[in-house]
Amino acid sequence: MLTDYHVHLRPDDPGTAAELYFTGSNAERYRETATERGIAELGVSEHIHRFSAALDVWQHPFWRANATDDLDAYVSFVREETDLRLGIEADFIAGREDRMANLLDAHEWDYVIGSVHFLGEHAVDIGDETDIWRREPSAERVWRLYYEALAASAISGIFDIIAHPELVKIWGPTRPRPAKDLRFYYEPAIEAMLDAGVAMEVSTAGLRKPVGEIYPARPMIEMAVDAGVPIALSSDAHVPDHLGYAYEQTVELLRDCGVKEIAVFERRARRMEPLG
Ligand SMILES: [Zn+2]
Ligand SMILES: [Zn+2]
Repeated sequence: MLTDYHVHLRPDDPGTAAELYFTGSNAERYRETATERGIAELGVSEHIHRFSAALDVWQHPFWRANATDDLDAYVSFVREETDLRLGIEADFIAGREDRMANLLDAHEWDYVIGSVHFLGEHAVDIGDETDIWRREPSAERVWRLYYEALAASAISGIFDIIAHPELVKIWGPTRPRPAKDLRFYYEPAIEAMLDAGVAMEVSTAGLRKPVGEIYPARPMIEMAVDAGVPIALSSDAHVPDHLGYAYEQTVELLRDCGVKEIAVFERRARRMEPLG
């Protein structure tokens, strides 16, 4: 079994209105590409910040600029006009867990993907004036804050899958990395995922970002496997051609790390299926 659950039906750019992309024919394009690439379990997970209801959770300027779409319409579209699993990519916003849980509880997802994109008001993966690295030049501090948030996202109990668990490295060599062994940062996050009973996403998206590395790096995958944290496999596609990106090398890496099964979700129940 191969999965691709962390999938967006449109790019993040402006001009990608819901009515252009939330269509049966667009969903079909994704399904066809996934089938060609041997991916049987396909779901979508739109960014929560693109829906107006997200402003009840948080009023960050980036969200205010993007929150235009109707969440109920997205849910009805996926359930009634496609054969895809219904997911959502929701942010972990410290202090807003209850509001986010209320928003998510109003719908019957197949899975909820939890992402750390912001540390306080500052962005991990947006290179504008909100960039965390403009505020915190210390790699040790940024990584510590990032992994503390990742652990808190697992413990929050809101999410089924913890997304791209090393997004903090997205910019690659243009930002500093901590000098110490990175397992120091991974460890508490792994423990939190284990305690919370959530799955850890292995995302091939990092391979097509400036860093050019998988999220997370092999040592963190190995730690997750050793601890018994279930692995979920996704590409974070924003166009059909990203589906299953670099899966061949990734499946090999996962096997090498001792992964035999991957997580499959339906109505927020998880089961494990053989990898590959
Ligand atoms: Zn994300
Ligand atoms: Zn995403």
